[in-house]
Amino acid sequence: MEMNFQKERRTILICGAGIAGLASALFMSRAGFRVEIFEQAEKLDPIGSGLQLSPNAMHVLAELELEEQIKAVASAPSKIEIHNGLNGKKITQILLGDGIVDKYGQQYLVIHRADLQEILLGACLDEPDIQVRMGTAVQDAVSHANGITVIADGPNGTGNYRGIGLLAADGVNSIIRSECFDCTKSISTGTFALRALVKSQDMPTGLHLENILMWLAPNAHAVVYPVRNGTYHNIVLTVPDNFGEKSKEQIISGNKFTGANIAASLDKWDIGFTQLLDLNTRWTSWPLRGAPKLDKWSEGSIVLVGDAAHAMTPHAAQGAAMGLEDAAVLRWAISKRTSLPEAFRLYQSVRMPRAAAVSQLSGKNKKIYQLPQGLAIFRNMGMRYMGGEKIFNRQDWIYRWKPPIIEPN
Ligand SMILES: Cc1cc2nc3c(=O)[nH]c(=O)nc-3n(C[C@H](O)[C@H](O)[C@H](O)COP(=O)(O)OP(=O)(O)OC[C@H]3O[C@@H](n4cnc5c(N)ncnc54)[C@H](O)[C@@H]3O)c2cc1C
Repeated sequence: MEMNFQKERRTILICGAGIAGLASALFMSRAGFRVEIFEQAEKLDPIGSGLQLSPNAMHVLAELELEEQIKAVASAPSKIEIHNGLNGKKITQILLGDGIVDKYGQQYLVIHRADLQEILLGACLDEPDIQVRMGTAVQDAVSHANGITVIADGPNGTGNYRGIGLLAADGVNSIIRSECFDCTKSISTGTFALRALVKSQDMPTGLHLENILMWLAPNAHAVVYPVRNGTYHNIVLTVPDNFGEKSKEQIISGNKFTGANIAASLDKWDIGFTQLLDLNTRWTSWPLRGAPKLDKWSEGSIVLVGDAAHAMTPHAAQGAAMGLEDAAVLRWAISKRTSLPEAFRLYQSVRMPRAAAVSQLSGKNKKIYQLPQGLAIFRNMGMRYMGGEKIFNRQDWIYRWKPPIIEPN
């Protein structure tokens, strides 16, 4: 039932060359479309530090035949160790490794976001039917009888680009979402992430740095894991927007934070984590914003994918994974319907409930990770009693997902 459009009329336009846009481009090209991607950045900067790639995300990357390239730069931690941020004691641990492969058919990996993006971009550049327009910012999109016209500012000035459909993969602050879906901007979650990338050789000894390490404390928690083949470590600390309020002058200098003044605001924390802050490292702050609640993700020949559709907090480590899943489901939906609007509606009916459920779990995780001290005692006892396997199994339904099978014509 694949769509059979005239060659000159079957261009799909994609706004945004993030994880969701690039993966969607690869799947669209496989579905027989010509693809044009518009990316406002002139080059893809190595921003965003680390991502956890759970088996559901790995299944999509395997489907794109990128598994081996991913494994060459990713790390495969054998455990997630969960610590009490205030006294440093280990609460429990979750075993990853071979057991995960036996259960889900894929590994649980950690990777630098830029490495994943570069692999996806490389695969797109290898495809003759995909054109990537860097330094080209979409300003508007107009639907008409024959499809969509995108108005974009590029290196050669403003241009109009026509296609039969538009995938809006332009992230949490999507311009297409606000222009074409008559809806509000992204929503504050009241929290932000402080992130740093540290050379592994500069990390303190005495920690099991080959694993994913977590520290839980009231109102804040931290996650650390290796990236870039173990040569760097990704450190993420999630804190409320008023973090460091008392010593704001010392902590915030423009948008820059230093390990020393972050540590000063975490004075009740155990040295297990705060010793990582003493490093002479550049910290960046990332406001954690969510997508507004939408009742639809598609409007005619325009559809939202990735964070543009469902930006969520990172506490289930699933934002990019959801964008990868979106791309695979779009490909499947197109194989099932004879027009793009119908395919986009099918995609949205499959994806909206899952993304909402994952987003909800992410919110719950944050509450659990950051419980106030009195309640945290019961959480820690509960976690010890449950053990790592049961804790991991709270997300089993997420990890079990596999890309839908495309039936041959
Ligand atoms: C602290 C933190 C930790 C995280 N950890 C994980 C994790 O462990 N696992 C996981 O799966 N996810 C994680 N995530 C989430 C993940 O990073 C995001 O969900 C994912 O990167 C979003 O990808 P995207 O392609 O949808 O959007 P983006 O990455 O935002 O890409 C959008 C692209 O569109 C471009 N763009 C925007 N507007 C325009 C325009 N008008 N014209 C042209 N181009 C435009 C942008 O420049 C950008 O390149 C984490 C996020 C944070 C903040």
